Amino acid sequence: MKLTFKPYTLELNHTFTLATSSRTTTPVVLVEIESDGIIGYGEASLPPYLGATQETVMRFLSKLDLSKYSLSDEMQTIIDYIDSVEPGNTAAKASVDIALHDLYGKAVCKPWWNIWGYDRDSSPYTSYTIGIDTEEIIKQKTLEAKDFRLLKVKLGSDNDKMIIDTIRRVTDTPICIDANQGWTDKYFALDMLNWLYERGVTFAEQPMPKEMIDDTAWLTERSPMPVIADESFQRLSDMDKVKGIFSGVNIKLMKCTGMAEAKKIIEVARKENLKVMLGCMTETSCAIAAASQLAPAVDYADLDGNLLIKNDCFEGVSLIDGKVYASDMPGLGIKKRI
Ligand code: MG
Repeated sequence: MKLTFKPYTLELNHTFTLATSSRTTTPVVLVEIESDGIIGYGEASLPPYLGATQETVMRFLSKLDLSKYSLSDEMQTIIDYIDSVEPGNTAAKASVDIALHDLYGKAVCKPWWNIWGYDRDSSPYTSYTIGIDTEEIIKQKTLEAKDFRLLKVKLGSDNDKMIIDTIRRVTDTPICIDANQGWTDKYFALDMLNWLYERGVTFAEQPMPKEMIDDTAWLTERSPMPVIADESFQRLSDMDKVKGIFSGVNIKLMKCTGMAEAKKIIEVARKENLKVMLGCMTETSCAIAAASQLAPAVDYADLDGNLLIKNDCFEGVSLIDGKVYASDMPGLGIKKRI
């Protein structure tokens, strides 16, 4: 197998503001793995708050030697090797895992949702993200989201109630919220969740800082809606850290090293009675197609990352009646845009 990679910069449709940061671009690294004339595509998306950069990803990828592997090797053997090279580097590892899935799926001429036996129609509605913004922009973004059946609203600033009231003046579409650790008082957080519940909010992502474990457990116990771990949960090995603290976990390929581990997390979460959300970064249709293979197996999908960028260099994911569908094509089911 031959691994190649190059940096690429995603241009965002709107300045993206979270409780902790604001930006107009997202750096990514695009990966290709070639074997027997088949090419598998992968991607590492690197929003700055995660700490990885194009340089750290390319430095990690340069250390990998895939020349010793071929399609006759088990894919998991290669994934285990990649994970063993260095700790961390989850997005870089995910880029290789995604490319391997594309490659192996193409080699057997099947998309992964089919290999895994999933029914694409059983995917939950995917949410469309509305970042923290001015009243006018919030209104405009809400109108732009008319094809979606669920809105994901970023909270955690001083304008939380204004943002929700503005959206509710435009639409009664269900909302989920993500405070990105923005609420630091458990009584305030519980008041907010009760206020939001009355306004059609169905679940909340990471209301409090990840360090505030006891306060989060207190909040989850009293919350009128499920409380989902995002910043508090990265990989399968974190599962014990969220049990009894949160109602569920937000799996992102870039956090958990890719599709293989994401599938294991879903299986373990089911056994633990935890809700499962499948999220994304701003990323191209490559990484979104990878995540959408798993969408039929989760409770909540937040797979709009490719719709938030201007220069998507892949195609192959569709939004139909508010759900993200991976294509019928093998592997990830994507094509490179010329
Ligand atoms: Mg989140």
